Amino acid sequence: MASMEASTYKFDVLVIGAGHAGTEAALAAARLGAKTGLLTTNLDTVGQMSCNPAIGGVAKGQIVREVDALGGAMGRAIDATGIQFRMLNRRKGPAMHSPRAQADKKAYQQEIKHIVESQENLSLRQEVVQDLLVQNALNESRITGVQVQGDVVYQAPCVILTTGTFLSALMHTGDTKTAGGRAGEGTTSGISGALRRLGFEIERFKTGTPPRINGRTIDFDRTEIQPGDDQPQPFSFMTKRLDVDQLPCWITHTNPEVHKLIRDNLQRAPMYSGQIQTSGPRYCPSIEDKVVRFADKSQHQLFLEPEGRHTLEFYVNGVSTSLPRDVQDAMLQKIPGLENAQIMRYGYAVEYDFCSPQQLWPSLETKTVSGLYFAGQINGTTGYEEAAAQGLMAGINAALQLQGKEPLVLNRQQAYIGVLIDDLVTRGVDEPYRMFTSRAEYRLSLRQDNADRRLTPVGQQLGLIEPARWQLLEKKEEQIALALQLLGNHRYEGVTLEKYLRRPETNWSDLQAACPLLNDIGPLESEQIVYDIKYEGYISRQQVEVERQKRLGEQRIPTGFDFSTLQNLRAEAQEKFSRIRPLSLAQASRISGITPADVAVLMFYLHNPAKRT
Ligand code: FAD
Repeated sequence: MASMEASTYKFDVLVIGAGHAGTEAALAAARLGAKTGLLTTNLDTVGQMSCNPAIGGVAKGQIVREVDALGGAMGRAIDATGIQFRMLNRRKGPAMHSPRAQADKKAYQQEIKHIVESQENLSLRQEVVQDLLVQNALNESRITGVQVQGDVVYQAPCVILTTGTFLSALMHTGDTKTAGGRAGEGTTSGISGALRRLGFEIERFKTGTPPRINGRTIDFDRTEIQPGDDQPQPFSFMTKRLDVDQLPCWITHTNPEVHKLIRDNLQRAPMYSGQIQTSGPRYCPSIEDKVVRFADKSQHQLFLEPEGRHTLEFYVNGVSTSLPRDVQDAMLQKIPGLENAQIMRYGYAVEYDFCSPQQLWPSLETKTVSGLYFAGQINGTTGYEEAAAQGLMAGINAALQLQGKEPLVLNRQQAYIGVLIDDLVTRGVDEPYRMFTSRAEYRLSLRQDNADRRLTPVGQQLGLIEPARWQLLEKKEEQIALALQLLGNHRYEGVTLEKYLRRPETNWSDLQAACPLLNDIGPLESEQIVYDIKYEGYISRQQVEVERQKRLGEQRIPTGFDFSTLQNLRAEAQEKFSRIRPLSLAQASRISGITPADVAVLMFYLHNPAKRT
């Protein structure tokens, strides 16, 4: 009997893993016309939230708005499935305003799956990828596809790896160790092996998650209610308004008794017993970490967050832990409101492989294998939003490569996404990377409210933006132009309304009283104008630095530039330039440990190539 031929499938772009990075990557590539395959281990976990049931937050909310402004799915999905919406930091300046929403976890996951299923050019398939296929020719390695379980090959000139916490993953609860990247799921070791074989440097990080409890067993009277905003604001620029029946979260605290219990059991925590030696997210520490690092604090705030509308499961935000089960039970019994709480899922930590992101070009394509891109937690980041942003950019860039076009690289002045990717590829990571507003030098301009004005035109040029979104932005810009004209032409107390608005005590309703024509301007447009005019002084000071960085950014360094031939360059600078291979003087200047003098030497040789040895 003739043996059956192994099956082969052909795509333009293959995306491996349908988490937050993978779904955005596949959607973006497909929107740009690439025939895209999205392969993932389990179709029931597409877009699954591994940890907290929430999207957004400080700096992360800004990223979601940017992903949305470029046509991504995350904002629309959370608008459709959120159960509580809050704008954080409302009392601070506009650069700090950050949207955050609690999600109905299951509904969010199904919404993302549905968006993926509905996308033209995109095939979603349940497959476990085991190996990467690479062709070596003329000193170049090029990806040609992947092999999946069952001896089946998928071919594609571009492959995007977004395997999250699943590479050679090991979960810990006390001294119990289980192979897997998320409770109830397995791990992926074939891809780690393939990456090592191809010469990638692989490191390990850890992250953790808290116990989930049954809401029926919480005594809410002993906690404090935290409701959503009265007027919830959507994430997506496409969502007109949110009509949502919001659910509250609840606040409680740890206390000295809880801390003593944890201290008494520290030797049983994998982080302290030596069982885990890798670093975890400093800014999202486990409760055992918090008790040790902030020993003088007598309490830590905890949020009890519903996991959905149709479940009683609650996420205990603030007690991420890998302590043994008996300590987790005893710990909760000492927390007000949780004295009788039943744990439904115990907390755990997970260790996993990631690839140092300095091995990537700013397009997120790997320097080692052409056509192979990495996005999400595999690059050493943490968080759904950071993953989604990278996925979107990798998807766009894979599709652009196939069209023979230059990659889209957003810069630090344009977007948090630009800050994120520049930080990753230029500085690398020594702990799981999450976004903060403080990482963005130009945060006054990178606000959540203007993400559409900053980025939708970029997406429009690439063909990423649906007509309805573009029309919405055009209308907004028209209204803003009209309002600015009115502010310039009308006067009050002897000055133009524009000048009048600059006074700290003046607000939009004062202007409307002075010029009723302004009543026709919508709230989103007036908000833009107020922020832009009131903060103009700061923004223009920022602009000077933006221009300087732009000039440096324009001084390109050729891809194959040989840094080892530069005399007078410090050994450290030579090593770092050779390893990271910056593509512009601006990028070179941002590498950690690089001094202005190193950049001056580099600039000299770029302008005087004949002086190189
Ligand atoms: P994931 O969402 O992990 O998605 C990866 C996808 O790849 C999955 O669908 C998986 O099935 C698929 N896949 C893996 N291997 C293969 C294969 N071989 N073939 C096909 N498909 C494959 N973030 C925070 O911000 N703060 C936290 O405190 C935090 N704690 C966490 C705790 C735990 C226990 C875990 C697991 C995650 C935690 N996270 C936390 C991280 C957050 O879940 C991730 O940042 C985010 O999900 C990363 O998105 P991603 O798309 O890169 O990967």
